Amino acid sequence: MKVGFIGLGIMGSSMAYNIFKGGHDLIVYNRTESKTKIFREAGVPVAKTPKEVAEKSDVAILMVTDAPDVENVIFGKNGVADGAHEGLIVVDMSTNSPEYAGKFANMLAELKVEFLDAPVTGGDVGAKEGRLTIMVGGKKEIFEKVKPIFESMGKIIIYAGPVGSGQKMKLVNQIAVALSDLAMIEAIELAKFFNLDMEQVYKLLSTGGARSFTIESYMPRLMKGDLEPGFKLSHLRKDIGYALEEAKKDKIPLFATSLIYQMLLSTENLGYGEKGIQALIKLYENLSKAQQS
Ligand code: NAP
Repeated sequence: MKVGFIGLGIMGSSMAYNIFKGGHDLIVYNRTESKTKIFREAGVPVAKTPKEVAEKSDVAILMVTDAPDVENVIFGKNGVADGAHEGLIVVDMSTNSPEYAGKFANMLAELKVEFLDAPVTGGDVGAKEGRLTIMVGGKKEIFEKVKPIFESMGKIIIYAGPVGSGQKMKLVNQIAVALSDLAMIEAIELAKFFNLDMEQVYKLLSTGGARSFTIESYMPRLMKGDLEPGFKLSHLRKDIGYALEEAKKDKIPLFATSLIYQMLLSTENLGYGEKGIQALIKLYENLSKAQQS
């Protein structure tokens, strides 16, 4: 199958490169042209529009930011829908809402185009190493067709159920990620107050009962003062916003999720939205400073 890939950001660039390394026939597109350089140099064709990607592929994968971006890439001018043809499968691997996934699937069905929602987890390192976990919603037979492509990007491929189920799984996952981030930052704040040796604190947190992917991935970056994104803080805030929206539909109380949403929003308001999720520490640092003055 010919594969098209749209959105060569932190995640998409590595994911697309792994599809290429997996031996699939690939064409890529990115809004900011400069990010296509490594693909051009590797001899991968670069499309001028998402429309061209759709025209030249059997499976068009999107890895952009939020639902409005997905909508724009599919249904905007020179979008994927303009290049739609019978047999095309559109796969949205960005994280957004289950509700939008259903809407995209219905709109594409009118064009005889199939749709899967297939968000991922595993971070920038997991994307680079082809070790992502991928959660897929949509028709089972369409999932089976695309599975070999998923296997070139990930190690664990979960069929979650009908359209929207991949996004539902991902929102569940994101609550745990956000609260692990909060737990890590608060533990570090107390360790700083105690003047503990941070290397030893890392040894403890990354091997003991509190061990987590978040601690292993983001604490070493924090210890080096590195706030650059593996996973952007504004993206986690987006995900948590969708989780709360879904929960509100049936009055499901999510106490800690509501709190972390406000904390992420406030950190974003301080100017750290484009930094990594470890930048949550800045909220604490700012509040501590405010208390001292
Ligand atoms: P990123 O580095 O910010 O990349 C976003 C990509 O989407 C860029 O290629 C950007 O193009 C493109 N894009 C955004 N809006 C667009 C639009 N309206 N039209 C066309 N292109 C658009 O983000 P990322 O970290 O790769 O994350 C991508 C998605 O994966 C997000 O939904 C995120 O929540 C999810 N995710 C991220 C991680 C992680 O650890 N980073 C893990 C799992 C899931 P430009 O280059 O032109 O800006």
